[in-house]
Amino acid sequence: MDCIFCKIVAGEIPSDTVYQDEEIIAFRDINPQAPVHIVIIPRKHIPSLDQLKESDSALVGRLVTLANRLAKEEGIADKGYRVVINCGKEGGQLVPHLHLHLVGGRRLSDQVG
Ligand code: 5GP
Ligand code: ZN
Repeated sequence: MDCIFCKIVAGEIPSDTVYQDEEIIAFRDINPQAPVHIVIIPRKHIPSLDQLKESDSALVGRLVTLANRLAKEEGIADKGYRVVINCGKEGGQLVPHLHLHLVGGRRLSDQVG
């Protein structure tokens, strides 16, 4: 499959991995928007939030819980941070494999989008 994040999952493209288990991988964004910018993905190819199934709920819970844990590990939990899921063209999603952005380490915009 021609999906860049599936290639990262398969180890075909290197990444600066900060966490991995049997379901999830988290790595530093190649083009960071803030001092901390981590991408959290399921190993399983889910194209977008729009494609989510009821049966994926536990997995999504784990993705969000990992964002909480990594924010603590990265030292940004106390000051605050943002977790973003872009969905679809107008939502700014460029890579069609569900992912969360964990962004922090500077004062972020008050605007959501
Ligand atoms: P999106 O706009 O789809 O929500 O975000 C995709 C993110 O993936 C972008 O922030 C982009 O910098 C990041 N990205 C794209 N390709 C790669 C890659 O090969 N390696 C890493 N580490 N990040 C990538
Ligand atoms: Zn994929």
